[in-house]
Order: sequence, then structure tokens, then C-alpha cells
Amino acid sequence: MDVIGSDRQRQTSTSFDLADRATRILPSGIRAVQMEAERLNQQGIKVFNFSLGRPDFDTPKHIKDAAKTALDFGRVHYTPNAGISELRQAIASKLERENGLQVDPDLGIITSAGSCEAICVAMLGYLNPGDEVLILTPAWTNYVAAAHLAGATPVQVQSHRSNGFIPDISEVHKCATSRTRLLVLNSPNNPTGVVYPTATLKELADFAEKHNLLVLSDEIYERLVYDDIECVAFASLPGMFNRTLTINGFSKSYSMTGWRIGYLAGPPALVQPLVPIHQNLVASACSFVQWASVRALREESTCVRDMVEEYRIRRDIVYEGIGKLPNILMPKPQGTFYAFPGWTHSTVSAEEVALRLMKEEHVAVVPGSIFGPGGERSLRLSFCCSTSDVQEGVARMMRVLGAL
Ligand code: PMP
Repeated sequence: MDVIGSDRQRQTSTSFDLADRATRILPSGIRAVQMEAERLNQQGIKVFNFSLGRPDFDTPKHIKDAAKTALDFGRVHYTPNAGISELRQAIASKLERENGLQVDPDLGIITSAGSCEAICVAMLGYLNPGDEVLILTPAWTNYVAAAHLAGATPVQVQSHRSNGFIPDISEVHKCATSRTRLLVLNSPNNPTGVVYPTATLKELADFAEKHNLLVLSDEIYERLVYDDIECVAFASLPGMFNRTLTINGFSKSYSMTGWRIGYLAGPPALVQPLVPIHQNLVASACSFVQWASVRALREESTCVRDMVEEYRIRRDIVYEGIGKLPNILMPKPQGTFYAFPGWTHSTVSAEEVALRLMKEEHVAVVPGSIFGPGGERSLRLSFCCSTSDVQEGVARMMRVLGAL
């Protein structure tokens, strides 16, 4: 993983000073692992790749067909900035049907170039330098980066392995100051695979109300849940709609990571001021991808269910293998396609174990430490490789993890 070092060197060899905001954003540690895996692959070495959160399935055929049809129809131009009305309507219907949210399709939705962009748009729109953003860690790395891009200060509030990575509400309260402006939530959670209980979401709702916070609820994994676990949309909790921007997208549910399409939704008063920011960043999401996304939402088929069932099988393989090692602690993933095993009895670092797995077993994983406080001595395993690779990869990981 010296890739990280050489990348940084390349970036710092310019004679021009970077803007302060750029210096605060580190290259993604997740990508660095992926690049190392690709380097080994190029040498003809098979790598069992548990690093990227990228579904291994093809995008369902009916969605691809819809994109082809849209191209043939000449849907190749700019669209309205917030997206075509057909897609906004389809998203509003989905939010009502599945999440119990009444969102205005004309004024309450912006379709974006992936949900990454929607998160940045929200933070650029609502944060000033000096504002604080509460991020419950371990957390996906982009929230901290987006806060920095907006010139704001990320404040990381640690959730603990001993509590199954459910946020400790008393610690959240302790981190609130007069400068706290935004609370970021992500359930089902990347990297832990945990789905926050509804009772915890209600406590977080009371907290947001008490401190008059805006909430960014990233629900991109909401459909990837197992064992009939309840997965409540934060904005549907009493009093939360008017202070919540809900983030969602197509990348994970429909295996569309390369299509770059996502959205944010909320009350018009919160959403409309964000349109000019999105307009300046990308003008509009890709036109024919928007048409394909309409089809994804309107024609459910069994595609999502089938993929989730395959992830469940893989989740069980990971849990029955690694999760049952006596020296390893791992919450059983209730959602997403991530598992987050860790150890407390040994001081060996996550980076060291990840490197050993890569070198000795040709298994690529992400060190949990990159996800902030609470991620030390942990690994994120993304079970987005074939089920047979999951099986073999787990056997290989057990050799190293079992001996820690
Ligand atoms: N939110 C979370 C929690 C994620 O894990 C990811 C991707 N890894 C995204 C948002 C971004 O997804 P996209 O931009 O592809 O919609």
C-alpha cells in the first residue's frame, strides 16, 4: 500500500499552493487498497477483493434497455437542473410508497450525479466556515471530506464496538455546541453494516430538535437489509421532515455505481436554495441515465430482492466464519454489504493486518481506521465479490484473523 505515499508525492510536487480546503482532503484509503489489488491482478495474481463497496452484479437488463431506448430517442441533452419531471415523480412515489414521505416532486427533489454530489451540495448549501457537523463514526469517509469542502468543521462522535456500533446518545449530546449546525446519519451503515434501531433514531430526532439541527440522512443502503429488520426513514419520524434532507441513490440497490445517479429530497424550503449549487457543479444529472432510473423505480421486477438474497448468503458465510472466531468481535450485519470485524485483545493495527492479508493471502480489505474513531483494530469487508470468492476469501482471512 505504498501507493498512498507515491500518490501524495505526485500531488505535492507542484509549485502551486493548494487551497486550504484541498489540503484537508486526503486521497481515499479505500481506493488505495483497490489500486494495490489491481497491481497484483496485473501481475497475474488472483486477489480476493473485499475492498470496494461496488456490487459485482451487472445492472438489471430492463434498466440497461431503458438507457439504450433513451439514447435512441435522442435523450442526449441537458435536462432541467433538478432532473426530468418523470424521474422526480417516480422518486416521490417511491418515497411515499416505501418510506411514508410526502415529497413535492417539483420542488422537493434534486437528482444528482451520484449521491456523493447530493451530499456535497447539501453541505455547500448549509454550512459556513466555523459551523460544526456531527458525524457518527465509524463513518463513510466522504462526510468529513464534504464538510471540509464546505469550509466547516467535522466533529466525529464515536460509536463503540461494545455497544454494537449503535450511537451512544449521551456522547452525541456532549458533542453539541452553539456552533453545531448539521447532524449526519447513515443507517444502514457503511462501514459497520448496522441498522440503527428505531428507538435510537427517535433519540437522535429529539436531539436534533433540542439543538435545532439540520439533518442529512444518507439512506442509500435502505433496501439492502436482512432478516426483515425494520429500517425507518428518519424524515418520517414526528417533526423531522422539515429539518431533514434525505439522500438516496441507485448505485447500491440496482448495481448502478458507474451510472452516477442519486438524489436528495426534503421540504421545498430546504431543497430549492440548493438547486443553483447543483446547477453550477454539474448542471443536471446525465439525461439517459435519468430515463433508465425512471424504469428502475417504476418496474420493480425481482432484481433487488434477488441481489439482496445473494448478499444475505454471503453475509452468512462471513458471519459463520469470521464472526464466530473466538478472538474476533463482529456485529452480524443487518444491512449493507459490509462486515466490520475487530479485535481488542491484541494491539496489532488494522493497517498491519490489512497488509498481511494482502501479502500473505492475497485478500484485499480496508483498514477500519480510515473510518474514524471507533474503527481502529477493525477491518471493513465488502462482500461484493462472487459467492465462491467470498467463501475462499473468508477461509483465507480466518487463517490470519484467527491467529491474532
Ligand atoms: N453514501 C454511502 C454511505 C456510501 O457508502 C456511498 C458509496 N460508497 C455513497 C453514499 C455514494 O454513492 P453514489 O455516489 O454512488 O450514489
